[in-house]
Amino acid sequence: SVMGQRDAQETNITVVVRVRPRNQKEIRENSPITVTTNGARGKELHVKSTIAESTTKTYSFDKVFGPEANQDLIFVDVLAPMLKEVLMGYNCTIFAYGQTGTGKTYTMEGDLNTAKGQHAGLIPRTLYSLFNCLESGDVGEYSVRVSFTELYNEELKDLLSSEEDFRKLRIYDDYNKKGSIVIQNLEETLVKSAADVIAVLQRGSNKRQIAATKMNEVSSRSHSIFCITVHIKETTPEGEELLKVGKLNLVDLAGSENIGRSGAENRRAKEAGMINQSLLTLGRVINALVDRSPHVPYRESKLTRILQDSLGGSTKTCIIAAVSPAKCNIEETLSTLDYAHRAK
Ligand code: ADP
Ligand code: MG
Repeated sequence: SVMGQRDAQETNITVVVRVRPRNQKEIRENSPITVTTNGARGKELHVKSTIAESTTKTYSFDKVFGPEANQDLIFVDVLAPMLKEVLMGYNCTIFAYGQTGTGKTYTMEGDLNTAKGQHAGLIPRTLYSLFNCLESGDVGEYSVRVSFTELYNEELKDLLSSEEDFRKLRIYDDYNKKGSIVIQNLEETLVKSAADVIAVLQRGSNKRQIAATKMNEVSSRSHSIFCITVHIKETTPEGEELLKVGKLNLVDLAGSENIGRSGAENRRAKEAGMINQSLLTLGRVINALVDRSPHVPYRESKLTRILQDSLGGSTKTCIIAAVSPAKCNIEETLSTLDYAHRAK
């Protein structure tokens, strides 16, 4: 049987903001703190005007995490509820959005060498927690598969492929399941334990670094998509077999610095040929879902095509907008807050 039929009218998109601490450069340059929060975790964000220092604008979001928020707090507050949904057979997606250097990768991956260390991010914590739950014995038969892909210039690469080089991955519509796609040649790695996963993650991360040194700037202009698929087979008291399939996508988006405040591509970026079709289309897809528009332009970018079965309908989506607290980044911060606010 198929799970996932639920009232599509619920609001299933949440928007949270994470403000990182000032970095060495911002401290060295004495760039003042212009973005503040109500402690580690609240719902408001205060932005000091750069023109009149005494004027402050307050933004509200579903959650706002301050510089003192640690990796565990983000996991417990943002991801743990999504993981519950996945175990019930629903699809969920979490995006990290923001300017380069604001903590998207720190939030998603952090330290990949440990599953629970201080700096371990959402991906290792999720897998650790998932296996903890699956191994507790309360769940029926299960299997966990992961894939890790990178999307750069609308080309998709497999970061877990066992082959030396990168094969281009092709995307096809799945004619057996409306709204779903099939990625040809993608390696879906079966993982059996949290320890297994750490090895897999390191392989993916190394592969990306090798690719990144070949071409500079790739990391700020590419999206990475870590996907966990969980199959659980349960037997009902009536003896009926029930298969629940849930999927969780953890997406580390390209740097948002090429997207202008209006949400359109910034002209200079466009002239330099740096159009990020996927980042732009994602914004349009989210706006269409929020407005309950009858047409959602999933097909207009690779990213939204890949994620189509995990965006909208009965799925849950979370956008975590990462920002710097410093005055020197205020333009990009305002642009990120605008984007995030429109998704509410
Ligand atoms: P992005 O992926 O958005 O470009 P990174 O995640 O690479 O940014 O973060 C840039 C730097 O800032 C990294 O050295 C990272 O470890 C550090 N950093 C980011 N967020 C935090 C945080 N909340 N606490 C401590 N260090 C952070
Ligand atoms: Mg990054």
